Amino acid sequence: MTKANLTPMMVQYQKIKDQYPDAFLFYRLGDFYEMFNEDAVKGSQLLELTLTTRSHSAKNPIPMCGVPHKAVQNYIDILVDQGYKVAICEQMEDPKLAKGMVKREVIQLVTPGTQTDTGAAGAKRNNYLTALTMPAQKQFGLAYTDLSTGELKAAQMTNLDMVVNELMSLQTKEVVVDDTIADDFLDRLRQLGMLISHQDDVQGSAEVSYVEQDLNTATLKQVVGLLVTYVTVTQKRSLAHLQRAVAYEPASFLKMDHSSQVNLEITQNLRTKKKSGTLLWLLDETKTAMGGRLLKQWLDRPLIDRGAIEDRQSKVAALLEHYFERSNLQEELVKVYDLERLAGRVAFGSVNGRDLIQLQTSLEQVPQIEHTIEELGDPIFKSLLQNLDPVSDVADAIRAAIVPEPPLSVADGGVIRDGFNAQLDEYRDAMRHGKNWLAEMEAHEREVTGINNLKIGYNHVFGYYIEVTKVNLDKLPTDRYERKQTLANAERFSTPELKEKERLILEAEEKSVALEYQLFVTLREQVKTAIGRLQKLAAIIASLDVFQSFAVVSEDYHFVQPQLVAGHNLKITQGRHPVVEKVLGRQTYVPNDVTMDPDTNILLITGPNMSGKSTYMRQLALTVIMAQMGCFVPAEAAEMPIFDQIFTRIGAADDLISGQSTFMVEMQEANRALSNATANSLILFDEIGRGTATYDGMALAQAIIEYVHNRVHAKTLFSTHYHELTALADTLKELKNVHVGAVERDGDLVFLHQMQPGPADKSYGIHVAKLAGMPNSLLGRAEVILQDLEEAADQEAPKLSAPTTAPEITPVTPQAATPTTAPAASESAPTPVDEQLSLFGDAADLTPAQAKVLQQISGLNLMGMTPMAVMNEVYKWQQKLSK
Ligand code: ADP
Ligand code: MG
Repeated sequence: MTKANLTPMMVQYQKIKDQYPDAFLFYRLGDFYEMFNEDAVKGSQLLELTLTTRSHSAKNPIPMCGVPHKAVQNYIDILVDQGYKVAICEQMEDPKLAKGMVKREVIQLVTPGTQTDTGAAGAKRNNYLTALTMPAQKQFGLAYTDLSTGELKAAQMTNLDMVVNELMSLQTKEVVVDDTIADDFLDRLRQLGMLISHQDDVQGSAEVSYVEQDLNTATLKQVVGLLVTYVTVTQKRSLAHLQRAVAYEPASFLKMDHSSQVNLEITQNLRTKKKSGTLLWLLDETKTAMGGRLLKQWLDRPLIDRGAIEDRQSKVAALLEHYFERSNLQEELVKVYDLERLAGRVAFGSVNGRDLIQLQTSLEQVPQIEHTIEELGDPIFKSLLQNLDPVSDVADAIRAAIVPEPPLSVADGGVIRDGFNAQLDEYRDAMRHGKNWLAEMEAHEREVTGINNLKIGYNHVFGYYIEVTKVNLDKLPTDRYERKQTLANAERFSTPELKEKERLILEAEEKSVALEYQLFVTLREQVKTAIGRLQKLAAIIASLDVFQSFAVVSEDYHFVQPQLVAGHNLKITQGRHPVVEKVLGRQTYVPNDVTMDPDTNILLITGPNMSGKSTYMRQLALTVIMAQMGCFVPAEAAEMPIFDQIFTRIGAADDLISGQSTFMVEMQEANRALSNATANSLILFDEIGRGTATYDGMALAQAIIEYVHNRVHAKTLFSTHYHELTALADTLKELKNVHVGAVERDGDLVFLHQMQPGPADKSYGIHVAKLAGMPNSLLGRAEVILQDLEEAADQEAPKLSAPTTAPEITPVTPQAATPTTAPAASESAPTPVDEQLSLFGDAADLTPAQAKVLQQISGLNLMGMTPMAVMNEVYKWQQKLSK
């Protein structure tokens, strides 16, 4: 359809739509928001709406569908939850008064990252919008904000993996980028489910220019500017609640990559993707939404600064020891609403009377909370108390102005208290007087006319009237009233006096409603000036909430305060996996020690399947995370160094989205640990090498252990099903064998879940199969095959199958390795590619067979192949080349 054929309305629509090509445009038309063209086709499917057309008679009717304006929020949420954007286009003038086309404008662009109405389910979760820029090679600026709370943080990073990791940890749904970010990287983010929004110019915003105040590099300013510009452009409303951007250093927290966070089930259950069964689930006894969000933030970023950790520990200890004060604090916290999000709504101008009452109620708890903390009498809370500003002026202002139970709407009156404003009282007086006068008039008229059921009523169309039923009409003196309206069984009348009163009452009503609204807005603006103070208060209350939560779980589950030691000594006495323990019950769970003195860096863990190896490893990681968050830990005693990073290679989390095989993911994760870990890191390698054939799996496992032992020196737990590896203890002096005990009773296997020194004596795979209920005939057959295999192995390759004889291992000697520096590239990296190619000489010298092999190599889809298939290919090439 050409432009000339469009109606003026569709011209207007198209002009607006052109500015929002990647959003659904909700175009306000009377009581509906309409979608047209492709928006309508797609929107009708996603929202299950009926698709109709506009101008049916035309050659190309325009597809259209609509949603009622009253229910619009629902529909917006559905689309935004699915990762789409919605531009809300409003009528900017009263259609009745408009000359020509009604003026329309987009008043807000709702996007996954800027959605603030996340409902009750989202109360304890942040919704982060992130921005990313790369002003120079290897220099990234990353910023994030939660629009509902105004939190704003920024960091600089030097490599892409760090950036991806951070974005994944933040669980961001939307990333704002400028044109410095390469397309293939954006594709990678899209594959991870993030929506990419482009914002090419940075305009900044005068209202919130203060946010950059504390930033001291151009990159940080740039990325925060980018983020703020995008938010300003899309939200088109006050952002006064945005907090000053805080620059953070990723290296100042315990680093964990995203896959470790996932594998350790810190905040998300691997199977259900829910909170239940996670460390967060166990630790969350917070009473406020703010506390819940802060707890999750602390879990995502445990500390590495001893002073800061010990400060938190002391606060938890104080609350743990004082049961009554803690219960009081809990009772007070329950009454504190979400101050952060209330402050956000104040800035957005979307608070109503009830929100302000919630704010007042919350603020009224603060003096109590302050008192309770003082009662603890512990100097550790001194600076917290000094910084505690109860913002009582705001509570007082609200209390003075707003009725205790205001209506939802702020536009219909009934919000402001009597006695707050003299003018308002006058209007209300006039209304009340008018109504008294009406009552008197009714009584008087009944008496004079003798009509007992004569009444004075009101309706919107006719105003005040006197009503007399038909039967009584003959009692009425003629011309006493003027006739107004005739009903089936009654007549309605008026008098000049009544009309005059009506005018006064309605005028007073109208004026009082308008004045109330104005008073409400004034109060709201007054509260707005206190937003920064409210946010500071919210932060303190949130932290108190997390401390009491830690104290509660520490008491309930018998945690102890860990000792953070300076050296490399790790000694956990009778440690437990807190989540497994909670699920199994305290009686059933078997506690275990973890002992790694400064000379032990690697524990090689063997034992039957299902005996508890993985649980033991995770237990240590969770204990470290809990300790470095400032929480107590599940053990009888714990002495531990402060770790800088945790690396895990656990479980078989196939990365299906990016199409990588399990073994590839396993090797990538292992590699990340080997190349980034330091002597202060913790590494968990759970049955590495399992994803490939026995021999190369075992070879890799041994080489990895040697590498960690000789070069990395990180504290490492390495579980394995390769018994042969236990012989490494003879040659690697920092490695110790431990195993999980199991006993055979009447041919059945009984797990003890008890860690014991030394290697396990056998694998028990067939016993486990028996436990799983496999048929006896099958199990018998397996025994026979096993025996055959063991005998054959004894003859062919004694060093691989006989755990008692020392294997031929030639580790790099410990002296030769430089313990703290990164491995030199020449020792481990493959020969550079160009040298490899020179094997074949110049391209011109290649034989057809060589050229063909080269072509096949470059065309190979490595990610989609098993190691065996790769071997096969290489074998074929060898054949070809040797012809
Ligand atoms: P593995 O890694 O050796 O195959 P897991 O660590 O996966 O074994 O443990 C298997 C199961 O054994 C767990 O799901 C848990 O129910 C139980 N388990 C593990 N450790 C303990 C323990 N210390 N006490 C009691 N039960 C345990
Ligand atoms: Mg396991």
